[in-house]
Amino acid sequence: MQISFLKIKQAPVDVNYSKDGVEIKGSLERIDRESVKLNSSFNSEVEVVCNRCGKEYKLKADYPLELILSDGGYNAKNEIDVIEFFGGSIDFDYLAFSEVTSIKEDYNLCSECQDATELLEVEF
Ligand SMILES: [Zn+2]
Repeated sequence: MQISFLKIKQAPVDVNYSKDGVEIKGSLERIDRESVKLNSSFNSEVEVVCNRCGKEYKLKADYPLELILSDGGYNAKNEIDVIEFFGGSIDFDYLAFSEVTSIKEDYNLCSECQDATELLEVEF
């Protein structure tokens, strides 16, 4: 799914993305000439690898996703993560992919290892 930057004017534009088990729902709001803000909730089940035992498991990801989406290069500093697009439109497939990738690269622990870690914490 792609949304042209030109389509996002003063009024927020609804986003309802759902593909390959990833849902991004919310709205896009114009900030200035170059950038818009995504206010959304991200929802997916991501196949991740446990950092402790190496087991693959499914992680339920469900959290608010706020991003600045920039039409071209973005130079100003912002507290919110910025994603730059260089084709004049917002590519939600790319956005979903980059979010899933960052979840996979996180430090993930499967439920057994999480329990084991909690036990260790109790013992010490
Ligand atoms: Zn594990």
